[in-house]
Amino acid sequence: MSSDLHAAPDGGLGARAAYAASVGAQRGRRIAEAPALPRSEFQRDRDRIVHSTAFRRLEYKTQVFVNHEGDLFRTRLTHTIEVAQIARSIARRLALDEDLVEAIALAHDLGHTPFGHAGQDTLNECMKDHGGFEHNLQSLRVVDELEHRYAAFDGLNLCFDTREGILKHCARENARALGEIGERFLTGGQPSLEAQVANLADEIAYNNHDVDDGLRAGLITLLQLEEVDLFQVHATQVRSAYPEIQDRRMIHETVRRMIDELVGDLLAETRRRIARLRPAAVADVRAGPPLVAFSEAMRPRVAQLRRFLHANLYRHYQVVRMSAKSARVISELFAAFLADERLLPDEHRDRVGAIGPRAISDYIAGMTDRYAIGEHRRLFAFDAP
Ligand code: MG
Repeated sequence: MSSDLHAAPDGGLGARAAYAASVGAQRGRRIAEAPALPRSEFQRDRDRIVHSTAFRRLEYKTQVFVNHEGDLFRTRLTHTIEVAQIARSIARRLALDEDLVEAIALAHDLGHTPFGHAGQDTLNECMKDHGGFEHNLQSLRVVDELEHRYAAFDGLNLCFDTREGILKHCARENARALGEIGERFLTGGQPSLEAQVANLADEIAYNNHDVDDGLRAGLITLLQLEEVDLFQVHATQVRSAYPEIQDRRMIHETVRRMIDELVGDLLAETRRRIARLRPAAVADVRAGPPLVAFSEAMRPRVAQLRRFLHANLYRHYQVVRMSAKSARVISELFAAFLADERLLPDEHRDRVGAIGPRAISDYIAGMTDRYAIGEHRRLFAFDAP
């Protein structure tokens, strides 16, 4: 194991491994800027993301449950904060750059449409003759072009490493058009460890909070969850230690222990892989195999939980009904704007003149759930006086 790793005290700040990302080692910002000391460059990226319009919109975008269905369900914003929290904990234990991990985590869902995956699938279908729609690519468009906050440039002018971490997946034809940021999808390279951590933290967050939200909504039951090993092992331990425990508290205690086990497993496996590869710099990480991963033993257990959530939560008829309604709102908005661009607010209409249907996709992708519902009503319904 790398001596740098041992040099990092548990929970200590500031110690960084040699294989952590650093601004100097990478390609920096597209437009050069003077440093904003005492903030580090990745801290500055994080701050820019938090101050962006797209970030504030996450509060009213669906994760699984549409915002108005209840006040306690995760929204894209609370999901994002949970991802950032888990990612930072892992990064600190691996002596990575916590600011970079946090920036990537806070930006990872900025390009999501309203209404969760139903919205993204529908917009992709609407855009199929115009280059399609991918939410990862859209997150990059948001930080590269769509935010208009700076006098000197469009977008947030983030560092290469932050942008690279945001672009988790990308189709080959899109990668080719992206230049250096798309290179790794063509050559098979890996992103920084910070990006790999943010990606797996996303998975840990949603797998666990969807169990919690699904139970809260009554769409899945504790009885059904008995078939899920990852849940059952911890639920049994909690019940035997606290036989009188109420269900709600038992669920929190169980989910908490699930997250702990997943993070612990991820750390152990990642350390094993780092010890085997012995990366001396971030360049070795980029050229090597994926390093941040669950163990061989954990992967089927995570897959079992995923299958359970797909079968019982994401395909529950109440979720499917909401998805169908959402799909109708998105596709009808898109069709109306495509047929007659004069229906668009001025700035978006002007952009259709410049870049075609992509401008409609940008407008719709940027909407919150409730804005989309309101816009649909304004276009299709007369409100009685
Ligand atoms: Mg996410």
